[in-house]
Order: sequence, then structure tokens, then C-alpha cells
Amino acid sequence: MSAPEIFEIKTEKERGEKEDKNNWCWQLQHRITTLSELEKWINLTVEEKKAVQYSAGRLKMAITPHFAGLMDKNDPDCPIRRQAVPSLEEFKTSIHDLADPCGEEHDMVAPGLVHRYPDRVLLLVTDACAMYCRHCTRRRIVGSSEQALGEDKLEEALEYIRQNKKIRDVLISGGDALLLSDVKLDSLLKSLRSISHIEIIRIGTRVPVTLPQRITKELVAVLRKYHPLFMSIHVNHPRELSPEVAEACGMLSDAGIPLGSQTVLLKGINDRPALMMKLVHELLKIRVRPYYLYQCDLAAGTEHFRTPVAQGLKIIESLRGFTTGYAVPTFVIDAPGGGGKVPINPEYIISKNRKAVIVRNYQGKVFVYPEKNSGPLNALEAARPQNEERPKQ
Ligand SMILES: *Cc1c(COP(=O)(O)O)cnc(C)c1O
Ligand code: SF4
Repeated sequence: MSAPEIFEIKTEKERGEKEDKNNWCWQLQHRITTLSELEKWINLTVEEKKAVQYSAGRLKMAITPHFAGLMDKNDPDCPIRRQAVPSLEEFKTSIHDLADPCGEEHDMVAPGLVHRYPDRVLLLVTDACAMYCRHCTRRRIVGSSEQALGEDKLEEALEYIRQNKKIRDVLISGGDALLLSDVKLDSLLKSLRSISHIEIIRIGTRVPVTLPQRITKELVAVLRKYHPLFMSIHVNHPRELSPEVAEACGMLSDAGIPLGSQTVLLKGINDRPALMMKLVHELLKIRVRPYYLYQCDLAAGTEHFRTPVAQGLKIIESLRGFTTGYAVPTFVIDAPGGGGKVPINPEYIISKNRKAVIVRNYQGKVFVYPEKNSGPLNALEAARPQNEERPKQ
């Protein structure tokens, strides 16, 4: 079980410590990467077994013991299992599949640096993740080398940021940035903070969910030196929010790091409105604000995870007004070919002109909002009677 170089992990023996399952290095060293290891955790179907074998050389399989512990042993439709265990469907490609669904290569301005929007950049610092999600949009690259971006390349990316004074926000992602050692992260954050035009730093990571043990006091002490620092975590199902995950999120929040969640809409995993309602409530309970709900990208081999766009709209409609505004994420399509994130909203405007806007609320009741100086609205008032059906509060 050799640990990839990037993790710079020593075994317990080398560290002179006892075996500790709550140590993140232990978790990484004991990731499940082979069929025989996986068989110790769950009862695999014939199809799953084949898929695990095929996955070598494609999107590799790696599952932390923490995440594996959340899998249902006997149910191949378990939402945790389907995100982690390869399936034969991944080897089918549909005509719309793309290798680089968000067009990131096109906007790559320096090694690992994607500059798409005027004032912010995405910095991909490694291709390694604690666990490889079967629906990953960066399937083409993640897990292929499990290395950190080399020092020279990182310096090239930093130099681009230094030279571009319009950049005020750096989003560090990968792979997973939190797999870098504390020392490497400290030095990266320090370099970014020394650039006077950088206002905020963000980290996009799934580690608090797949490897919550990584959120140590030491890591948090590093992160909190570089405020304002925000973090987006990736959560798809309420069952992922184990006590360990809640504790990790609590430590980050207590350190003043605002947490947001990015959720990918996945068929059969989280595409029911009631389930999504539960997820957003569970997130708020651990101080994580739902940020984006992503329509599943066109990454090759992920068609079986995609839902119709209408399903996402239905979910948003089932949340808005029915629960806390903070609980409602923005539903987005990351436009194929590099168009960036486009918000997709249920239609609440029935009609509008210079005089007034006619809207409907979450219950379908119709209201008229007169624009300034629009004069009498007799014709538009005709829309009002429907409101009288509203039940008395
Ligand atoms: C998602 C993304 C960002 C950040 O977008 P926000 O809407 O500000 O969260 C920046 N650059 C790229 C290339 C992205 O994909
Ligand atoms: S953690 Fe993110 S980058 Fe890594 S495999 Fe999952 S979706 Fe992809």
C-alpha cells in the first residue's frame, strides 16, 4: 500500500506512533484501491466487480475508509456507494460527452491556472483527491499522477496573478488542495496574501467530507492566518454528513472560515425534492450555506448520473419560499465549451413592461408591482382577483 509522494506520508512506525484510524495519514494509507480490499467492505455485484477492474487506467478508484464506512454493504443503489464505486455505465460514452466539459484547457493561462472571469482565477494545485468521485467533472485529469503542481509551475501561476492587478479573488482547487501538506499550503497562502490586489482567497475541497480527519488543529491554525478565506465543500447527500464531518466543519467555522456547499445534481442520488430539502437543512445545521447546485456536466462516462434540467428547476421551486432563504442554492449549468456558470431559475415573472411587473410567488399567487411613475394600473389590476383565493393566515 504505497502512499503517493504528494501526501508525504510516513507510516505509523516511521512516525513512532501507534496505529490511529482517526489520523488522516492512516486514512490515506488505507484507502481502498483494489477489488480485494473493496470486497472486505461491501458485497459487490458482478457488474461492480467488472467495473472496478476496468477502472484501472481510466478514473482510478480510491475510497477512504471513512467514506467506505458510510456505504451500504448490500445495496448497490446506496447513494454513497454509487459516488465511490465504479459502474459499467462509466465506460459508455454518449454523443454529447466531452473530455473537458467546462472548457478549462481553453482558459488555462499558466500551468494549473484558469482565468475565465475578469476578477478571479481558479488555481488547480494538484490532481490528487482523497476519494475519486465517479461523477467528477475533471475525470480526465484527476488521479492520473497524484502529484502536486511543481514549484516552478506554481511560481509561473503566481507570477501571472502578481502581474494581473484585476485579479482580486483566487480559488484554489484541484484535485484537492487540502491534500497538500500544512507546510506547502502555508507557503502557497502566504505567497497569495503577499500580493496586494488579492482581496479574498477561496479553497474548493471535498476533503472535509471524504477525509474529515484532515481538518486538524494544526491545519486550521495555518488557514486562519490568511483571512478573509472562504471554503466551498462538495456534499451531495445527507448521509455524507457524519459526526466526523460535522466536527470538521465546526472547527473551520469556529476559525472564521465561511463554508459553502456545492452539490452536483445526480440521478438516483439526490434528485428528489424532499431529499434535497433534507440535505440543505442538514447543511445549515452544521453552518454550511448551500452555494451552488450544479446541473451534471457532460464529462465523458457520466451520462447515467444526469437528470433533465427541468428536475433541477423543480427542486429549486420546491425550496424557494418553502424554507429558509439561506438554504436555497443557485442552480447553475457550467456552460459546455467554457461559457462559465450560468444561473438557471424557475420563472417567477409572468409578464413585464414599462408600467409594471407581474410576478407569481412560491404558491403560484399573482402580484402586480407597479413601476415608478407608471400611473393608474387598471388593466393590470385585473390580475389581482386570483389572490383572493389565498387562504386566511
Ligand atoms: C467556478 C469557477 C470560478 C468561481 O466562480 P464563482 O461563481 O465566483 O464561485 C472561477 N473560475 C472558474 C474557471 C470557475 O470554474
Ligand atoms: S473531490 Fe472533486 S475533483 Fe476530486 S474526484 Fe471528487 S469531484 Fe472530482
